[in-house]
Parts: sequence; structure tokens; C-alpha cells
Amino acid sequence: MKLDVLAFGAHADDVELGCSGTIAKLQALGYKTGVVTLTQGEMGTRGNAEIRRQEFETAGEILKLSIHNMLDLPDGFVEVNKANKLKLIHEIREYQPSIVFAPYWVVRHPDHGAASRLVREACFLAGLKKIDTGQDAHRPYKVMYYHSRFEFKPSFIVDITDYHKIKIKSILAYKSQFHNPDMAQYGPDQTLISRPDFLDRIITRDKQYGTYIGVKYGEPFLVREAIKIDDPVAHFGPEYLETIP
Ligand SMILES: [Zn+2]
Repeated sequence: MKLDVLAFGAHADDVELGCSGTIAKLQALGYKTGVVTLTQGEMGTRGNAEIRRQEFETAGEILKLSIHNMLDLPDGFVEVNKANKLKLIHEIREYQPSIVFAPYWVVRHPDHGAASRLVREACFLAGLKKIDTGQDAHRPYKVMYYHSRFEFKPSFIVDITDYHKIKIKSILAYKSQFHNPDMAQYGPDQTLISRPDFLDRIITRDKQYGTYIGVKYGEPFLVREAIKIDDPVAHFGPEYLETIP
């Protein structure tokens, strides 16, 4: 199946936290979307691989994804190596996405940094026809990085106001990862994202990026290359007036 947009995450829930509003919007606009996680989340402090797979499936249904796959790289120890690049090349060639979403490379969790580099390099390598995977070569037009933990100056921000409810619903599909009032707030079973204020922080961040473009909720993206605009007059219409600080 050919996809328009394929989003990669190191773990189930990375994509939902980072860019699921944009994915829901693109799906509603008629594009085919998919998510591939590199690991099965078996090292997660809470839940286990089976629970996380079920949550991943539920989130995928909420986002109406065309495909939703988990690879089997070792959680916590994702490496940038040839074997792993070949696994990603296989996915890229299988789904031939025009656009790929990847985690931003400045990270806290080492898997996210490795995933960022693996995705970028695999997108390039997937276009080299002499790398034989038994599939046609395919190189996506653009890799776009979504917010993971550390801020970046966005290349652009997508208005996700009408899709923010779907984003939150897809995040809450990961019941095992989020706050459970029956568990102690601090201790060995708690993580950064299981704290009671975590979802508030996500919502605040989405509002912050929305403010930058004059809408209620936004998701930031970074591209490494300059963005071409053919007609700056047509592109920057009256709505940009609202975004002047
Ligand atoms: Zn993660």
C-alpha cells in the first residue's frame, strides 16, 4: 500500500504525543497515513509489551491509520547499524511515503536520538536501487521532525485545533503509561509521563505553538533544508497579520 505520510517513533505513544493532531488532520484531508514504531516497548517501566501493543492498536484505530506496525528493535538499546537501517528501508519501500515524520534528534531518551538518525539515513538509503531488499527503491520527498522533548525553532506549525480532541484521545489510549490515581505519585513505578500533570503539559505546549500562528492548538515541525515558496505574496495572506507579535 502506498502512503502519503509515514510517521516513525521509537516507542508506541511517541508519535501520538508528538504529531498525532497533524496525522489526524491529514487523514481527514484524504491522505493515507501510517505509524511504525521501532520497538515493542518491552523495557517500559509500566505495562508490558502485550499491553502496549493493544494500546498501540487502539490509538491507531482512533487516528484511522491505514497501517500501524511494530518492529522488533530492542527497547532501550536501539542502535544505528546496518541491520536496523535495512529494517527501516524495508518499511519505507513497502509503503512508499511522500513524507516521513521522525523524532527531533535532540533528546532525553537515547532510543529517540537513534530513531531520528536511523529514519533519516534509511530514507536516503531506501532510494539507492542497488541496496537489494527485493522491493522497488523509493526515497521520500521530505523528512520532517516532530517535537519529542526539547524545543526547536519550528520550520512551520500545523494548525491542529479541529483535531486536538482526537490527539488527546489517541494519547489516552495508552492507559498503562499515564496517571493512575491508585498508584503513588513518586516511586519506582512512576515515570515522567505518569505524573498527574503530564497531559496538562502536552495541552499547554499545543496551545503555546498555536499561539505562535494565531490559532488555538498547533504542532511544530522542523525540516533541515530551506523551504521553497514560489509566490510569497499569495502565500502570506491576511491571516498572517494575526501572528505578528
Ligand atoms: Zn519514546
